[in-house]
Amino acid sequence: MKALVHTAPLKLEYVDWPDPIPAPDEVLVRVAAVAICGSDVHGYTGTTGRRIPPIIMGHEASGVVEAVGRQVTGWPRGTRVTFDSTVYCNECPECRRGRINLCEKRQILGVSPPAFRRHGAMAEFVAVPHWILHRLPDGLSFEEAALVEPAAVALHAARITPIEPGGAVVVIGAGAIGLLAMQAAKLRGAGKVVVVDVREERLLLATQLGADAVVNSQSGDPRDALETATGRPSVNVVFEAVGIQQTVQLATDLTAPGGNLTLIGNVQPSIEQNLQAIVSKELTIRGSAASAGEYPACLAFLAAGRFQVGPLISRVMPLADGQTAFDALRRGEPGLLKIVLRPEPGATSPEVANV
Ligand SMILES: [Zn+2]
Ligand SMILES: [Zn+2]
Repeated sequence: MKALVHTAPLKLEYVDWPDPIPAPDEVLVRVAAVAICGSDVHGYTGTTGRRIPPIIMGHEASGVVEAVGRQVTGWPRGTRVTFDSTVYCNECPECRRGRINLCEKRQILGVSPPAFRRHGAMAEFVAVPHWILHRLPDGLSFEEAALVEPAAVALHAARITPIEPGGAVVVIGAGAIGLLAMQAAKLRGAGKVVVVDVREERLLLATQLGADAVVNSQSGDPRDALETATGRPSVNVVFEAVGIQQTVQLATDLTAPGGNLTLIGNVQPSIEQNLQAIVSKELTIRGSAASAGEYPACLAFLAAGRFQVGPLISRVMPLADGQTAFDALRRGEPGLLKIVLRPEPGATSPEVANV
């Protein structure tokens, strides 16, 4: 098959690669669309240690069932699917409690920390265990279905956070996850949702997607702007979707005494925080990792038009042009949010008779 392989820092090569052979409990998926995640862009620079070459990245994808291992039933060839980014074991105590994002043996598709290497979906085919697959509703395009993964990440964060019905919520960061978290907070009953960013074009998109107010944290004190929008300089629920020192600090500042701050962003490995502010305001700070069972709800919301991912897709490009796409995202070209890559249709089916 053809695959987009990350071969060295800042380098991607579109090359011939051995076809994945599905294990007896796996399904071979013919990839139709795969989105580039912010973590992929950070990863290919070689600075995060989570994309060790050679690795095929890609954990936000959709496609059709091409073949199944001999133990797999119920997934006919041609079924339109997406799949979880977490390959969980389905057997450990965490998996049995439904906390599959914390599975003791979990691997993430297209990620290679020192402990494992699991190739992802930036290729014509990818093999995944059958229990991580989800059927696509009719009418949902492959491009949109590739964004179910980040949508599930956002919905998970909103689900584990105690959002009061009708309560005001702040989302820091209007990247893909922030824009999805804003929508997820509304789906979970939030009232006014205020989105904070430093890029006007992103704030405009936030407004188009339903933000009740937007704040550019570089023009004036964000607490004043928040007070204008909600009547208070801080709110009970804040989502942080950037993951650097400055924005986590801002998130702490904008969380009201006794409030809840949920951290989704994860860029800087360690940051310094104002301990006194956290303790004296008695803040509850929680991390939110990937998703744990939110795919079905996400797919239902998408099918019903209550969750919008389409406006986040800025470009659809051939998988062969992956290097160009990654470089454009790394440079932060204006107007660019999500790029979805599509392998050439019609790849020859791999020989899987022996599985
Ligand atoms: Zn991602
Ligand atoms: Zn497990």
